[in-house]
Amino acid sequence: TEETSDTEKAYRIVMAGDAAVGKSSFLLRLCKNEFKLNSNATLGVDFQMKTFMVDGEPTLLQIWDTAGQERFRSIAKSYFRRADGVLLLYDVTCERSFLNVREWVDMIEDISQEDIPIMLVGNKCDLRQGAANCVPTSYGEKLAMTYNTLFCETSAKDGSNILEAVLHLARELTKHA
Ligand code: GDP
Repeated sequence: TEETSDTEKAYRIVMAGDAAVGKSSFLLRLCKNEFKLNSNATLGVDFQMKTFMVDGEPTLLQIWDTAGQERFRSIAKSYFRRADGVLLLYDVTCERSFLNVREWVDMIEDISQEDIPIMLVGNKCDLRQGAANCVPTSYGEKLAMTYNTLFCETSAKDGSNILEAVLHLARELTKHA
């Protein structure tokens, strides 16, 4: 946490989760209100900064998008070390990405200096209609309870819950600070 000016609070949030769960798309929707069907994979690390009103207070969020690929995990680790909070995404249509959440939580808890707030996000919920073998909402809720994280389901495609997820995490960071 740092104070950028007299009034503005600033937090550093890092995105986590397997490749292709929608981390870049989530960030693009949040910051530019855009969506691309075939986005390029993030190589290494990219970040966006934007000020949000959190409980009536301007709050600067610096959000880091890390690549989910195995070969970049070591780079990503140095970002988790300095994170105030984490957006941990899985893809509700990809069971593997949900099963891997555990590994991500373990890594984050291992690396971050203290208990940092995590928002567990089941993304691509727009695809649930008609898709077989999706991760049920109740599974996400249960896992979030197990790890004592926040939880929500989002769609970077239609924008649902994206801002809510971020504001909810930001509120938690404000409390935590
Ligand atoms: P990342 O590797 O985690 O950053 O994932 P990307 O943001 O690159 O997304 C991977 C693919 O999933 C891209 O083709 C996106 O267009 C698509 N995608 C991301 N989020 C959503 C979503 O909420 N709904 C749908 N239908 N597709 C999505």
